[in-house]
Amino acid sequence: MEHIANIVTADLDVMQVRKDFPILQRQVHGKPLVYFDNGATTQKPQVVIDAEARYYEEYNSNVHRGVHHLSQIATDAYEKARRIVAGYINAAHEHEVIFTKGTTESINLVATTMSRGYLKAGDSVIISAMEHHANIVPWQIACEVSGATLKVIPINERGELIMEAYEAMLDDTVKMVAVTYVSNTLGTVNPVEDIITLAHQRNIPVLIDAAQAIQHLSIDVQALKPEFLAFSSHKIYGPTGFGVLYGTTEWLNKLPPYQGGGEMIKTVTFAKTTYNELPHKFEAGTPHIAGAIGLGVALEYLQGTGLDKIQRWEKQLQEYALESLRTIDGIRFIGDAANRSGAISFLVHNIHPFDMGELLDQQGIAVRTGHHCTEPLMDFFKIPGTVRASLTFYNTMEEVDKLVAGVKRAASMLL
Ligand code: PLP
Repeated sequence: MEHIANIVTADLDVMQVRKDFPILQRQVHGKPLVYFDNGATTQKPQVVIDAEARYYEEYNSNVHRGVHHLSQIATDAYEKARRIVAGYINAAHEHEVIFTKGTTESINLVATTMSRGYLKAGDSVIISAMEHHANIVPWQIACEVSGATLKVIPINERGELIMEAYEAMLDDTVKMVAVTYVSNTLGTVNPVEDIITLAHQRNIPVLIDAAQAIQHLSIDVQALKPEFLAFSSHKIYGPTGFGVLYGTTEWLNKLPPYQGGGEMIKTVTFAKTTYNELPHKFEAGTPHIAGAIGLGVALEYLQGTGLDKIQRWEKQLQEYALESLRTIDGIRFIGDAANRSGAISFLVHNIHPFDMGELLDQQGIAVRTGHHCTEPLMDFFKIPGTVRASLTFYNTMEEVDKLVAGVKRAASMLL
């Protein structure tokens, strides 16, 4: 294992990378922090923290509406962030990048606007059995409002989508497919290329929930061709409360506005309002300006560090983690997909995940326990929750060793 560590360290200098993230230097309960809760939120590099602070210190001002100096600087910085995001996912046009509060709001935007005229009684929407609540509940509401039906792609025991079942579900009633790229609970990487191709053969639009994919995989929306793609800034080393909805020009023009207010209008009279063009049509109100700037800097930071180096290291780290965790007596992985990324969920004997999580916390190791906002998935596996370690590129093999030792120690205390 040391052999692998040496090779990889020569590729991505993880120790150097860790210095970029100030929080990774801190201690928790007197122990160096081992942060394996990256699926919930990632830590922020100093450059992102500085960029946010600089906005408030040097040019805090509202965007788009001012002719004064500061407003122009803020507007330029905000729109530069849109340009960076568009480049990062290779959107054909900057106006196809809509800024939102996060994945949840991005999905709600699409589901809500689709329920206002596009979805009708007799139609159906397809999601999958491994969706986060953020990609279930908005569609349930949209179906309730429109009279459409929700259909669910089943999964197998390994936590993989049953693609034959999906194909069989694609009939003339289906008006929308919304699936996650990577499962936040199982770590499964879904075959989204095939999901999109099959839907497109019937002219059905597809939304990809990329909340757990954007930080681990390269996404080119022009190659992948989803109609919509959603992700959150805070899961890709940017600020919280900010995110992205990518949509094709055609679909963003087709859908009605989501919220009314400033910025999204062209003209307003009491008789009639006309709407602004993209992207502003979907950005009512004052946005999270510092959030946009921070996300732009986070993406530039990743590009500067080297996406291929990051991805290679994450792959090796994940293989090492799976191999090492497998040595724990009584461990059961929840989700064992052939193609996986990010999250590793497990249970040990009959130990409750909360008890395991608490004992790990006392050792300075942060993992997430519970249902991970995927209650239907917990029902499928007939479990109350899991212990979830989600890894990212600033984690090390030494930290994996600490996790394994920590789980063994906790198990010996709890059994
Ligand atoms: N979708 C997936 C797959 C997620 O993992 C999450 C968050 O954990 C979300 C959606 C919701 O993201 P947010 O809370 O940032 O809106």
